[in-house]
Formats: sequence, C-alpha cells, structure tokens
Amino acid sequence: MPRELTCIFCKIIAGEIPCAKVLETDSVIAFLDIGPVAPGHVLVVPKEHYTTLADTPSAILSALAAELPRLARAVRLATAAPGLNLVQNNGREAGQVVDHVHFHLIPRTHNDEFRVHWPRKKYEDDAMERMRERIANGI
Ligand code: 5GP
Ligand code: ZN
Repeated sequence: MPRELTCIFCKIIAGEIPCAKVLETDSVIAFLDIGPVAPGHVLVVPKEHYTTLADTPSAILSALAAELPRLARAVRLATAAPGLNLVQNNGREAGQVVDHVHFHLIPRTHNDEFRVHWPRKKYEDDAMERMRERIANGI
C-alpha cells in the first residue's frame, strides 16, 4: 500500500501516531480532527497515499464515498447537529495543509461560527460556453 514516510496521515494509518478513530475498513479510515471546527468534526481518509482529489483513483474514492452516509448519520446522532458540510481542500490555495487527500465532515448548528465566503461572479458574453467546452474537452 503506497505511503509517504513524512505524511502525518500515513503515520496515523500505520498506527505510529494515535488518533480518535471512529471507523476503519480495508481502504478507509475516519477519525476526529485534532483541531475541530465543531465537536464531532471527522476526517475521512483513504489508506493509500494520494495528494489531491485529481490524483486519486476512482475506485479508492468510491470506497470512501460509500462510507459517507453512515458516517454522516453517526455524526448527526452523536452531535445532534442538524446540518453537515462535506469539505475537501486541494492545494494550498484551497486551504489544504495535509497533503494526503481527505474529506472533512463538519457538523453545523444554527448560528455557528463556520463561514464559507463565496463571492459569486457572473460570466460575460460567451465565457460560460467557452469554459464549458474547455472542461468538457479535458475529460
Ligand atoms: P486540510 O486543511 O489539509 O484540509 O485539513 C487538514 C486537517 O488535519 C486540519 O483540520 C487539521 O486540524 C487536521 N490534522 C492535522 N494534523 C492532525 C493530526 O495529527 N491528527 C488529527 N486527528 N488531525 C490532524
Ligand atoms: Zn499519506
């Protein structure tokens, strides 16, 4: 199983660093974030080391995604938080600090402090169609 010697999540997966584990399967581990945005903030991590979403094989992500509904239900049950954000950061510009692909499950409550600043823009003229074409052609 690929791992990186310097990666903190690979060390957690190898059992070299402790974590507050809530779920483990053959290919996925989920544990409490050490610096939670809210109590019950869970990290869901594939055991194989890949850096970002774009590097990760579909089969690995499928196995991870399959665990999300029961994790979401368990977090809701444990925290009684009515809302939940699934957050996934790729690259420093997007706030990624740990370079081992992972998903955040963040319980949300009314008037909590978590904010995603989402400054919306508008496409001018045919910019939307040109962008659609560029992305579609890259798949
Ligand atoms: P990122 O910003 O890369 O999406 O998120 C990395 C997350 O990993 C952060 O929320 C941070 O609190 C968490 N984290 C970093 N080191 C450790 C650790 O050693 N143990 C645990 N449980 N979480 C960690
Ligand atoms: Zn790793």
